[in-house]
Amino acid sequence: MTRAAAILLFLVFLALAVFVLQREETTGPLVRTRLLMGTVIEIRVADRDAGRFDAAVSEAFAEMAAIEKLMSPHLPESEISRISTATEPLPVSSETGEVLQLAADMAKRSGGAFDPTVGRLVSLWGFAEGEPRLPAEAEIAQALAGVGSGQLRIADGKVEKGSARLAVDLGGVAKGYAIDRAVAVLAAAGVEHASVNAGGDMRLIGDRAGVPWRIGIQHPRHSEKILAKLNITNRAVVTSGDYERFFEQDGIRYHHILDPRTGYPARLCQAVTVVADRAAVADALATAVFVLGPEQGMALLAAEPAEGLIVAADGSVRVTPGLEESIEWP
Ligand code: AMP
Ligand code: MG
Repeated sequence: MTRAAAILLFLVFLALAVFVLQREETTGPLVRTRLLMGTVIEIRVADRDAGRFDAAVSEAFAEMAAIEKLMSPHLPESEISRISTATEPLPVSSETGEVLQLAADMAKRSGGAFDPTVGRLVSLWGFAEGEPRLPAEAEIAQALAGVGSGQLRIADGKVEKGSARLAVDLGGVAKGYAIDRAVAVLAAAGVEHASVNAGGDMRLIGDRAGVPWRIGIQHPRHSEKILAKLNITNRAVVTSGDYERFFEQDGIRYHHILDPRTGYPARLCQAVTVVADRAAVADALATAVFVLGPEQGMALLAAEPAEGLIVAADGSVRVTPGLEESIEWP
């Protein structure tokens, strides 16, 4: 073959490649993002002709915004804020009732490691406000007084508090619930391949057009590094980490996942990733396992229809047996 013929052939290939890539772009995945619940939410639809689901994606975002409006502790008119100031039984939406019930169940199953009544404690540390500080011991004792999910009763669409001081916080579960609601909207519209990703916490619908979704898990101490990759189909993957919101004082890291037994940040883990069918369950479990630590956390995961990966405080990694075949190490 002459040099000219070779160059011509190369150019033909190039033109073909550009053509194929352009075609891919018009029929490729639909990806949209929106800022909600203090994080970037990305919805990606990987169905053929994904563009036809644009309206469903808008509806899914609207659903997540509605959940935020009900459950945000920052909005004074949210149901969660109103529960916290209520002095009498308060009627709540079925959505808030459902999440409170799920949170109360997780509190039971985790022996109180997960506790939706930590509201006063969370406010005291100031992580939600973005200006965290180390409280005095007496303040912590005060915020803990009367705390416990046993103080919360959910019945007949009403929430009843054992003490008027009790403040509710659903920060450990509401994001997962919102993801589930978005997934329900997409699935009802006929979407078969999609991911709903809220700052690394996500749920997948189906696979990624024939292959599992590959989910990178961030290294808890090197944000630019991937600790492992998970091959996941049709499930939720949620991570709790001590690197998400924290400050350091006198060489000690203080972060936003609090141990309801001590009132201080839980000390036994750096990160916990949970894989479960529902994102709300994975979210609550990740927080619970983080507080329990590697030993008791592995025991809780073994008792639940869920898998997980735990990075202990010393950096060692534990994986539930059911997850091993889905993991790729770097
Ligand atoms: P996550 O990032 O899902 O682990 O949730 C952490 C958030 O849940 C915190 O920012 C608090 O709002 C709340 N939280 C902190 N400690 C607990 C706990 N022990 N149980 C339930 N929620 C908690
Ligand atoms: Mg959580």
